[in-house]
Amino acid sequence: MHYKYCPHCGQLLIKKFQDGRNRMVCDQCGYVHYQNPLPAAAVVVMRDQQVLLVKRKFAPHAGEWSLPAGFVEHNETPEEAAVRETAEETGLTVRIKQLLDVAGTCEDHKSNIVLVVYKAEQTGGTLQAGDDAEEAGFFPVDDLPGKIAFTSHKRVLEKYINRY
Ligand SMILES: [Zn+2]
Repeated sequence: MHYKYCPHCGQLLIKKFQDGRNRMVCDQCGYVHYQNPLPAAAVVVMRDQQVLLVKRKFAPHAGEWSLPAGFVEHNETPEEAAVRETAEETGLTVRIKQLLDVAGTCEDHKSNIVLVVYKAEQTGGTLQAGDDAEEAGFFPVDDLPGKIAFTSHKRVLEKYINRY
């Protein structure tokens, strides 16, 4: 996210070297536009050596596959976000079992992301694609359905899937 004007007082922001790097700052009120990564959460849910994946409906990477995942909302823990996103995208209710990985990525030109990845197990629900997923299903780990959307998700699939 890039601001041209101060979100507090409307003054034009200027580039200034502050706290170790160039930042957009407001000379009027002192506002500093810090650009921090956004936290996101993803889950690895396995069933008979198959991994739960969703086909993305929207950009970025529409038509490609990813783990159920999404941004952590305000007033939500990463665990809650992971459970919520899984329900929204796949119809499945899951319980978080274990932290698998924390990956920092900045492949998206607009923002960088800190992805928290959990192992989870299904406790209920019925498999049905929803929200921003076009398809959802379990796929053999050695025969994935198509291109995996994000480097961080690819890394998780390569690093962890065969162990679970
Ligand atoms: Zn200002």
